[in-house]
Amino acid sequence: MSVMKRSRVLSVLVGGVFCVAVMSLYRMLELMQGAELQKGDTPAGQDEDLSRLQQKIDRLEHLLSNNNRLVATLRDSLLHRKASWEMGGANVSSDSALIRANRLPGCRLAEEMKEGTNGVQLLDVYNLLPFDNPDGGAWKQGFEIRYHGNEWDEQPLELFLVPHSHNDPGWLKTFDSYYQDQTRHILNNMLIKLTEDSRRKMIWAEISYFSKWWNDIDEQKREMVKRLVRAGQLELVTGGWVMADEANSHYFALLDQLIEGHQWMQRHLGVTPSSGWAVDPFGHSPSMTYLLKGAGLRDMVIQRIHYAVKKHFAQQQTLEFLWRQSWDSSPRSDITCHMMPFYSYDVPHTCGPNPAVCCQFDFHRLPGGRVFCPWRIPPQPITEQNIQERALLLLDQYRQKSRLFRSPVLLVPLGDDFRFVESSEWDAQFSNYQKLFDYFEQHPELHIKARFGTLSDYFEALRRRLSAAGATLPTLRGDFFTYADRDDHYWSGYFTSRPFYKRLDRTLEATLRATEILFSLTLAEMRRFRGDGRLVADFPAREHFQRLTAGRRSLALFQHHDAVTGTARDPVVVDYGTRLFHSILNLRKVLQSSAHWLLLLDKSQYHPDQSKPFLQMDDVISAQDALPQKTPLTLSDEPRSLIIFNPTEQLRTSVINVVVDSPDARVVDAETGRPMTAQVSAVWAEPSQASTEAFQLDFVAELPPLSLVVYYVTKASAGSAHRALYTFHRRGNLPTIQSEHFQVSRPERPEADSPLSLSNKHLQIWSSAETGLLQKLRLQSGLVRQVQVQFLWYGTRTRANWDKSGAYLFLPGEEGAQPYSSSEPPLVRVSRGPVFSDITSCFQHFTHRVRLFHLDGHAGRSLEISNMVDIRSEVNRELVMRLVSNVSNGNRFYSDLNSFQMQERRTLAKLPLQANFYPMSSASFLQDLTSRLSLLSAQSQAVASLRPGELEVVLDRRLQQDDNRGLGQGVTDNKLTASLYQLLLEDRRGGAQEVGGASVQHLSLLAHLTSLSLCHPPITMVSPSNSQLPKLRPFLPLRSSLPCECSPAEPEDAGGHTGKTTWNHLERLRVFFLSSLDCRKQKVPHRKWLSSSTGRASIVAPPPNRHCSARGACNAEVNLDDLFSPLQFRSVRRSGLTLLREHDEPQSARQQQPPRITRLRPMEISAFRVEMD
Ligand SMILES: [Zn+2]
Repeated sequence: MSVMKRSRVLSVLVGGVFCVAVMSLYRMLELMQGAELQKGDTPAGQDEDLSRLQQKIDRLEHLLSNNNRLVATLRDSLLHRKASWEMGGANVSSDSALIRANRLPGCRLAEEMKEGTNGVQLLDVYNLLPFDNPDGGAWKQGFEIRYHGNEWDEQPLELFLVPHSHNDPGWLKTFDSYYQDQTRHILNNMLIKLTEDSRRKMIWAEISYFSKWWNDIDEQKREMVKRLVRAGQLELVTGGWVMADEANSHYFALLDQLIEGHQWMQRHLGVTPSSGWAVDPFGHSPSMTYLLKGAGLRDMVIQRIHYAVKKHFAQQQTLEFLWRQSWDSSPRSDITCHMMPFYSYDVPHTCGPNPAVCCQFDFHRLPGGRVFCPWRIPPQPITEQNIQERALLLLDQYRQKSRLFRSPVLLVPLGDDFRFVESSEWDAQFSNYQKLFDYFEQHPELHIKARFGTLSDYFEALRRRLSAAGATLPTLRGDFFTYADRDDHYWSGYFTSRPFYKRLDRTLEATLRATEILFSLTLAEMRRFRGDGRLVADFPAREHFQRLTAGRRSLALFQHHDAVTGTARDPVVVDYGTRLFHSILNLRKVLQSSAHWLLLLDKSQYHPDQSKPFLQMDDVISAQDALPQKTPLTLSDEPRSLIIFNPTEQLRTSVINVVVDSPDARVVDAETGRPMTAQVSAVWAEPSQASTEAFQLDFVAELPPLSLVVYYVTKASAGSAHRALYTFHRRGNLPTIQSEHFQVSRPERPEADSPLSLSNKHLQIWSSAETGLLQKLRLQSGLVRQVQVQFLWYGTRTRANWDKSGAYLFLPGEEGAQPYSSSEPPLVRVSRGPVFSDITSCFQHFTHRVRLFHLDGHAGRSLEISNMVDIRSEVNRELVMRLVSNVSNGNRFYSDLNSFQMQERRTLAKLPLQANFYPMSSASFLQDLTSRLSLLSAQSQAVASLRPGELEVVLDRRLQQDDNRGLGQGVTDNKLTASLYQLLLEDRRGGAQEVGGASVQHLSLLAHLTSLSLCHPPITMVSPSNSQLPKLRPFLPLRSSLPCECSPAEPEDAGGHTGKTTWNHLERLRVFFLSSLDCRKQKVPHRKWLSSSTGRASIVAPPPNRHCSARGACNAEVNLDDLFSPLQFRSVRRSGLTLLREHDEPQSARQQQPPRITRLRPMEISAFRVEMD
């Protein structure tokens, strides 16, 4: 008890310190807001004011960082004191002066902040742990657990045995094969066996399987399922479509699969999940917990955590905690989390610390069966003769396990992968355990009450016991990457495995999001157009809705922890790939058809022919493992329409490229006839051979938010188009260059070895003339940074009997990374033009290109990097791209978690190389006093900063062997793989210090917008050539850009796919407002002010802050009438993140006119149910 008191005292002190920081932060923001109000908003004035504000905020950050460091010191001392007390420290009385300090006026937030510091910060735990991996005895990775035996005399041990069956939606077999061979039998037997005895229970997690089975069973069985659910015998946990991977997945897809599952549960069973169950994903992210909490879950269970962290948490009795978001100063995002203490979720590792004993209580392994105990002591059926001995043996394990937790309630899972297939297995487990439970019941002197339970049963009991004891759980901040299950076996390989599909995943995600938005807008427009609330007769809305649902479910399925992770067998990978591929093709049909109707000036001309769509995409994807190829457009004097859809809610200036059949082409805005800045470049059939039939046409398009814009492209008079100019470089002899239509200048000798340079008005770069690889960057402000691009190989371990890298594990060779070298020097091709200039390096295994856009907007401030990688000729190698800079970041860098938040990382020498790799779904950065270097990506991969100034990403891995985690094969299905990045160097003026403790950092606004553009590129469609075109008119749904934090998404849940349900939900447009940036604590203050949601329209791209204001998002209200003109909204109601009706806020009695969305908090994702007029 005195430990708790002690902690409270210290936490108050910490709270007090924070109070200062918070107060100053608020005061500063107040000042800045005041300044903003008085300011004119001419672009020039804004830039100037902005830099002043930037300086202020940097000073503020400096102040905050000092406070943070102090807090970190205090936290460390807290940990030390706590540790020393546990070794026999004395009781210490509390200091009332410190408590009083907490009540100082103005420290309103201190109470909230206090909770945050009275807890565990995972970065501190990593600093503390020796990672020495001593042998713990029976519990190999733990320690010997002792108890006296009288601990439960007052409060008996309350045990819940939770039967479960882990069903992977695809791994060694495809989703459908598993379903046929195992899953349907498991669920069929579940129905029979749970009905036989009302004391039996079961939990189920994967709704993808459950819904498939539901479609197969009759009405009578469905009623039985509902009865079991109502009786609490069957609990659907998490309620996701899959048990999602938490490293590679984007939060949009994570939410998508949760919505899909939760909506299914609500529609068919009328229930909502309350507990999460994630026992197999290879590491855990707080982004997932945030979504679960937002979806209404109260509790969750996680399992795959680094064994050293588990041991530490077990020693501290912190295996149960309140998981809090790093950026949250309140308990709002807290969710109760239970971390399983031992190695695995199977029976040997869940009843207690000794697997040899626990295995004897897995009655599926009774002698004579197919599975057995590797510890060589088989289970025995429970009989009258052995029951006492058996019961006491098991009770000993339960008691030991119980000592690791603060409450006398104990959770013991009973199950494994694809368990409970045969009815004999059900009988063996349930009847033997029931005998043991009955025995415990008959022996009150054992002080144990044991029964079958669900997660809700467990967590309810836990909550009851905690509140009876007046105890609270500690809070925890941070994430659980990178996972190690034993020795130095870190699971950082799967952050990159099968990168082709990790990128395809994002392509589907972007297509899905764009399609959902355009489809919703089309339905809304149609209803408005007709005036009677109905849709246009010929519009295939039902088919489209089915395509959308199928697309969402493909994306959802792929978030499974053996899918996007790249850890399934080859045929299963092809099955996933085929689903993603078909979904993209089907969604494109919806896009084309929606755009068709929206664009017609005269809607009576809408006569769709689905076999011959009016609009086509500008590219073709020919197979699940092929990259998109642009279709060459035939040009003539007759204009051809290009339709560009901007899927983001920001006005943006983008470079659109199409392939045409003529080197002379011209693009005009269809509305105004204004010619667009354009550039014609060669399409390179070979590195030195330009195509004579196809040419790349790039032009600069200005795209209002969520708009469809029409451009005309025609053949131009010879020589009238700007063509790119080329130079070629190669050490030694240059090959013959074939480039009929393009001017190629050869570098003169003296200049040949001097660096290549490109520049636009924002930045200048220098690259090596020998390799074409980047060397240096200079900003307009004068900031110069060395940023060298390098390519390197990792091999794998060579020693006999040592495990080697595989799909899950990264076990690099002892020599570390070796510089990439190729037998012949690369051909370097430099192109220069009015729209962009670039440098392409053609190596044997990859083509690397760095491109600079000559644009004023944010697209001109970063450097586009693209790689086309092919390592199919290699054996046991992994290719990395490394940036070597002179940014003095020490051992700290930042990587994103699911594109939702940035997480501080510390490269630790006490950990092996592979442990210092982290997942990166879309962003990473390094920073020092004066600059920040951000690498933004369009796909997920592993990232590390192994030495100060360095940042490296893994591009592809080819591994010949299995890594002994059950997959049974290597990763050798490599393909020609594309990866895309934006590199952004930014000034950090004002000299903020390196931030101590665990600082919360965010992407800068510029980086955020750049990332948004990268992940959601404009979509280009083309009209057929030379036809009697009906007149098209651009579609501009938004009056102005949304605040940059807000992003609308999808009309979900129309229910049309199951046949029975009506789909009149379609009439409703549902809008998410995603607010994913922290405005209050944001390093870059831009988003705090300046226009946006409430009025000012059509702002031209730069500076980026001008699009965005947090005024709507953070402080006040968003008026939907302003945003979605000319759409009209009848009502707006806040709901849970998965839009379950139970979570809807009650309709306010006095409906606001016009409807407004209020209270959007920084960093928060909110969902609203919106009714259209
Ligand atoms: Zn699994």
